[in-house]
Amino acid sequence: MKALVLDGGTVRLEERWPSPSPKHGEALVRVTLAGICNTDLELARGYMGFSGVLGHEFVGVVERAQDPELIGKRVVGEINLACGECAYCRDGLKNHCPTRTVLGILGKDGAFAEYLTLPVENLHEVPSSISDEEAVFTEPLAAAFQITRQIVITPSMKVAVLGDGKLGFLAAQALQLTGGDVMVVGHHPERLEILSRRGMRAVLESETAEWGRRFDVVVDATGSSSGLESAYRLVKPRGKIALKTTVAKREPFDLNRLVIDEVTLVGSRCGPFDAALLALARKAVDVKPLISRTMPLSEGVEAMRLAVTPMKAPKILLSMR
Ligand SMILES: [Zn+2]
Ligand SMILES: [Zn+2]
Repeated sequence: MKALVLDGGTVRLEERWPSPSPKHGEALVRVTLAGICNTDLELARGYMGFSGVLGHEFVGVVERAQDPELIGKRVVGEINLACGECAYCRDGLKNHCPTRTVLGILGKDGAFAEYLTLPVENLHEVPSSISDEEAVFTEPLAAAFQITRQIVITPSMKVAVLGDGKLGFLAAQALQLTGGDVMVVGHHPERLEILSRRGMRAVLESETAEWGRRFDVVVDATGSSSGLESAYRLVKPRGKIALKTTVAKREPFDLNRLVIDEVTLVGSRCGPFDAALLALARKAVDVKPLISRTMPLSEGVEAMRLAVTPMKAPKILLSMR
């Protein structure tokens, strides 16, 4: 099969990569559409030391599974493959299983290929009201909803989302559903305008220079090595910072400042697929303005290159159709 493979820091298209064969309890999924994520770009820069097929945001169709009911179903999939037996797994912390593999990120070939395998328990059927173009955002949207599982946001709270990239867009929309007063702080006027048109307050970071520290919650979705510094500049004493950014190299940050201001720092990763699918089905979030273009998998190397350069809309999708 065709696959986009990361090997020793270079990304290349393999025309004859071996198709994966499902292990016991796994399904074989024919990938329809996949999304290029900041994590993929960081992996290509050496984050996690990954080699293999990239990609973890996808929608596809089950082609082989033990349960015949599953065959032909349109699915998205949770990306952590847990052992199911350790103390973390038994406590419901499968995403933190110490021996887990992660689709396209850690020890498991990913979604930038014609086929992938995942445990059946990781799969979620996509309701017919959600298009493939929307469904491919389920994984990052779930990661955005994870913030609301970790930090209680009430309508009286002021929330800033730093970053007008993919995750910033999704986090802002997920957090707005809590009723909190959400503002997006970004760098791209044309992207902020898209958010403003959706009724969201969105400003350039340069406008916040004199603001001081006024937010109860600040989400770092900058994807930048200095995101924590920017978040600290805007968070109130006793406020909370949710870190969504993973970068290959992080700038040093003086943690004494968090101690003195009693700021809570919350790391935040994968989230609830059911909440994301529900929001997409209800059209409570709009992911389409994020799509910049859809390219065939055969142009994957070029797509990865384009994804690094800033675009009006931040998301490039890879199509296997
Ligand atoms: Zn991602
Ligand atoms: Zn485990």
